[in-house]
Amino acid sequence: MQIPAGFYQVKKDIESHKYSLRDIMNEYLSRIESNKDLNAFTCVFEDVTSRADEVNEKILNGSSGKLAGLICSVKDVISIKGKPLTCSSGILSDFKALYSATAVERLENEDAIIIGKVNCDEFAMGSSNENSFHGPVLNPIDKTRVPGGSSGGSAVSVAADLCMISLGSETGGSIRQPASYCGITGLKVSYGRISRFGLTAFASSFDSIGVFGKEISDIASVLEVIAGYDENDSTSSEIPVDRYCSILEEDINTETFTIGIVDEYFSEGLNPEIKAGLNSLIEKLRAAGVKIKSVSLPYSKYVIQTYYILTSAEASSNLARYDGVRYGLREVNSTNLEEMYVNTRSEGFGTEVKRRIMLGTYVLSSGYYDAYYRKAQKVRRLIKSDFDRVFHEVDYILSPTTPTTAFKLKEKIDDPLSMYLNDIYTASINLAGIPAISIPAGYDSNGLPYGVQVIGKKFDESGLFKMHKLISNTINSN
Ligand code: GLN
Repeated sequence: MQIPAGFYQVKKDIESHKYSLRDIMNEYLSRIESNKDLNAFTCVFEDVTSRADEVNEKILNGSSGKLAGLICSVKDVISIKGKPLTCSSGILSDFKALYSATAVERLENEDAIIIGKVNCDEFAMGSSNENSFHGPVLNPIDKTRVPGGSSGGSAVSVAADLCMISLGSETGGSIRQPASYCGITGLKVSYGRISRFGLTAFASSFDSIGVFGKEISDIASVLEVIAGYDENDSTSSEIPVDRYCSILEEDINTETFTIGIVDEYFSEGLNPEIKAGLNSLIEKLRAAGVKIKSVSLPYSKYVIQTYYILTSAEASSNLARYDGVRYGLREVNSTNLEEMYVNTRSEGFGTEVKRRIMLGTYVLSSGYYDAYYRKAQKVRRLIKSDFDRVFHEVDYILSPTTPTTAFKLKEKIDDPLSMYLNDIYTASINLAGIPAISIPAGYDSNGLPYGVQVIGKKFDESGLFKMHKLISNTINSN
């Protein structure tokens, strides 16, 4: 069965009795079954067909919510009451969530149906989705390659048409990088735009929930519903949520804004095919009347160090709660409490998570706190002020999302540094707390997709929707 693009069309078709939401759900369920080798889903919920009947009924009698017809997946670091919440970790392999994340609750209140949970790197730490208790996720475009991470399962569930959208999470690029590797759109919102309540903490001052999709109108509809203040998250913003869907309807006057191109981002390390593709996009935008300005972010050379020091510090503290006492795995053959802590954590956590805990504990230890943690905090401020300054000169910044296209499975697993360098264009955005979107921009000569990243001012998600429209139209115009 062919499923039309955009959930709104599905809703219309149901209204005109072309098919039912159960037909759509059954189609997705059979696709998930026949694509099991991708390892995208960690569980599919049992009640989804009956839920489809309920929403179908509501559509037919005119009482359905704003997202009726939408079927989505949720990254397994986000809580859904009563469902498994493994965070792809052995330490939570049997854990079920006690409450739902605010974003999930808001989706469900508007009649979106969550079809299941999707695989990711353990506690969202990684760039390849190979650090998972459930095993690696495969890239549907080339199954010998990674889908990117940490939200690899989310990206694949959308790219392989196993659902319409997916909720993922970002700490340093985990939505934009897999979106780029899988040829779909991924939106990372401003820090505080979407409540973090129910999102398992990795690095609390960086983390945010975000959305993957193929249809930008689906992403806009979802964001309108899940964004906004939540009394359960003191860092969520009270700034009103825009009408993102209506922004997509507006005409764009290309002469009213300026796009900045970062000098430092187009130099060494960037795959030449991506560089050429983006340069040709920039020329087309210029020809369409957009003002293009070259800008500099001099502190970008410190992004990776700063990001990994600060996020590991926060992670080492956040992950202290998995101690075998309160929930999750407990190693029972220990003879005293300390041994139980050690054995539980040694057994439950994977290699990358242990690496981050050790790194984080080290940079927070009294002898090294000033040299690493405090210094990194200062550099974070400088990186943020780089963006503040540039955003006085331009309205948006355009950059590559990733330095390369998807790499081979196992290629970087033993080389953490080269894995970390994947975040070179994305992590700065999380350090600064600003929004960015990865938009499909082209393919390399191996047929592997890559994205273009547009970065906006804090809380200007609306501008990113406008840029998505402009850039997709520009790319598709020849
Ligand atoms: N690759 C980055 C890391 O491993 C980003 C992770 C994320 O955004 N959750 O930390």
